[in-house]
Amino acid sequence: MLTINAERLLARLQALAQIGRTQEGGVSRRAFSDADLEGRAWFQREVEEAGLLFRKDGAGNLSAILPAADPQARTLLTGSHLDSVPNGGRYDGALGVLCALEALQTIREKGIPMPYHLEAISFTDEEGACIGTFGSLAFSGALGEADLARARLDAAELSAALQRLGLSRESLFDARRDPATLAGYVEVHIEQGSRLEEEQVDIGVVTAIVGIRSYRVRFFGEAAHAGTKPMHKRRDALWGVVQFVARAREMVMQRFTPGVMNCGWVELAPGSFNIVPGRATLALEFRHSSQSLLNEMQQALLDLCAQAAEDNGLQWEAEPLAGTPPAAMHADMMAAVEGAAERLGLSHMRLPSLAGHDARSLSQITPTAMFFVPSVDGISHNPREYTRDEDVINAGNVLLHTLLEVAQVPRVWWE
Ligand SMILES: [Zn+2]
Repeated sequence: MLTINAERLLARLQALAQIGRTQEGGVSRRAFSDADLEGRAWFQREVEEAGLLFRKDGAGNLSAILPAADPQARTLLTGSHLDSVPNGGRYDGALGVLCALEALQTIREKGIPMPYHLEAISFTDEEGACIGTFGSLAFSGALGEADLARARLDAAELSAALQRLGLSRESLFDARRDPATLAGYVEVHIEQGSRLEEEQVDIGVVTAIVGIRSYRVRFFGEAAHAGTKPMHKRRDALWGVVQFVARAREMVMQRFTPGVMNCGWVELAPGSFNIVPGRATLALEFRHSSQSLLNEMQQALLDLCAQAAEDNGLQWEAEPLAGTPPAAMHADMMAAVEGAAERLGLSHMRLPSLAGHDARSLSQITPTAMFFVPSVDGISHNPREYTRDEDVINAGNVLLHTLLEVAQVPRVWWE
């Protein structure tokens, strides 16, 4: 059975983890930072030493390319991202990019004729120093001026950040790729959860990437003296929050699992020991991989807000904020991942992704698959993020065989 060069993959993962390394053993490779620039330069050298073509597009997405004999061939893409969250882990994103590079290098070394150009890509700023999945949005043509206006960097900061990468606001829009030139996209990533570990399964085949919606919810009551106002006459905005959160938690667990909801921030006003809170503001976010269940969940949560307001004598409002729709993965591409896992004798299961990924952007323009390997204890966005070497190697081998399966490479080449 054809396999990747496991030592080379592990050595690259180790080398990359030194770039932006933190005291706790994680990495800080925030997009546009010095460490990001260093990581990019390192990746370019690795690509060139591997005998692959290097390319950087207008959004700073970096690619390794193994051209097909036919210049008119379409491109089969695979990749992830090299940037990290501040003091994040060494596997998130890095695994997908390095497995992609390794798979291409293996195919090149074996001289396997491919009907597609192969491209291993690292997308810019997946983690959202400026905009989450920035590079893949630009690549898929979904990035607009409106997104830039809402970015976490203001116009001057954005220009400076782009300049560091040798890019400009205008060049971003050149990154858009014609879907007709693409054959598909496959991304491997650590799970960032513990479902595979709990089920003792090697490979998680993603069915869909969750849709995320968020609201700023406000309850309005009446600020009052915390001593003299009788309890039964209070219109306490916090009571509305407490009732809502408690009931929403039960409701989501009973009716919408594996969907999730989170209230990550609450502010009370006036905000004092001796004043009954007259106003409460709540950051509400919820996620589901099914569009229809996400809609139902939204309605049910807003109904609970209304109920909590009514029961506590409050007024309320819910302001919708930017969200992302769920993205289904492509059935044939999912089957290719499962076929690859079976060739390699690895167990697999289907599951939704509860985190956003570049694969969401790609799924809008080309047949897309994503698969996970286990994360120990489900820890992620944390220096303690860890995936065992055997799972890293499985990731590389399943990716290699998925590319061969999608390209329908005859058995004689890979057996
Ligand atoms: Zn990631």
